[in-house]
Amino acid sequence: MNIPRKKWTVWGAAVFCVPLLFAGCHPALEYQETTIYAMDTLLQFDILASGDSDIGEQMRAEVERVDRLLSATNLDSELYQLNHREASSSTASEELAGILSDCLAISRQTDGALNIALYPVTQAWGFVSGDYHVPDATVLSDAMEKIHWEDMQVEGTQIQLPEGMELDLGAVGKGYLTDCCVEILRDNQVESALLDLGGNVYAYGRKEDGTSWRIGIQMPFQDSLAGSLTVEDEAVVTSGTYQRYFEEDGQRYHHILDSETGYPVENGLESVTIVTENGFLADALSTSFFVMGLEKSTAFWQEQFPDVGVVWITSQGEVYCTKNLEERFQPSDGVECQIIGEA
Ligand code: AMP
Ligand code: MG
Repeated sequence: MNIPRKKWTVWGAAVFCVPLLFAGCHPALEYQETTIYAMDTLLQFDILASGDSDIGEQMRAEVERVDRLLSATNLDSELYQLNHREASSSTASEELAGILSDCLAISRQTDGALNIALYPVTQAWGFVSGDYHVPDATVLSDAMEKIHWEDMQVEGTQIQLPEGMELDLGAVGKGYLTDCCVEILRDNQVESALLDLGGNVYAYGRKEDGTSWRIGIQMPFQDSLAGSLTVEDEAVVTSGTYQRYFEEDGQRYHHILDSETGYPVENGLESVTIVTENGFLADALSTSFFVMGLEKSTAFWQEQFPDVGVVWITSQGEVYCTKNLEERFQPSDGVECQIIGEA
């Protein structure tokens, strides 16, 4: 039988299209998983999209773009070039200058709890190279000479850094990247996604079944959760001692450092989690609140950021959360949560 090819094509197209017609002629949506290793972290994105969508590739390109902007270790990044400048004054891109200026505003607000100029001290501890060790006293005091963030200036795109100063955006980079990725989801009219950037989660929209996302908060150094948060279109960002640390002579040293001492912050806190719509702010505040400690950061929260949600966990395993999270934070069985901000 000699059936003209064209006819087969028509029938083929019809058979293929019937299920699509019943489905409203939209290709089926499924969570597409994209895994990327960047910023020293495994990034995992679950995005509700059709199988032929290029959303994963768009995210991958954005991660690379932001890494080339903010990484302190990528030799091709703009921040690396700034750290290895030849003159005291440099011209940065508007994007980098904007981030630096936002960081400085938070440093001023937090009395230097957030200090993006701490990089020489972070390096002295081996947190950059992976050669972790307690630094020699002279090495540390030399590094401490170079971390005076008040001496850096950002005017428009002109950046002025004192000699020897090097910047590290590790405290805010993943939060900034989160916001960039969320913008791509919006541009692509994505309705539901979960972005996990290791310690930085963004719950975009609702789950496919229409319910809100639930994000677990880890009990530091335990294989259990302190509780879980119900969230929607919000970042949930945790800064904690357990996320990066090493042990020397039986003592544990973690990666969030105190500009006053040059040593890891020791204030009885083990983690701080921030819940708010903006990923950059959540990341900047999680580090800042952690450095400030429980007492100072609860007062600061009440005065400056009462709309942001916060969960603090102490080394005694005590859990505190702000009143605005009372309905949305479910402590695990046996965990008691004390509410901050009660009248
Ligand atoms: P995070 O996990 O967001 O709290 O950020 C911690 C990272 O920020 C560290 O790994 C360092 O790269 C950097 N860092 C450490 N201490 C500070 C600090 N006091 N201010 C700003 N950045 C810091
Ligand atoms: Mg942070």
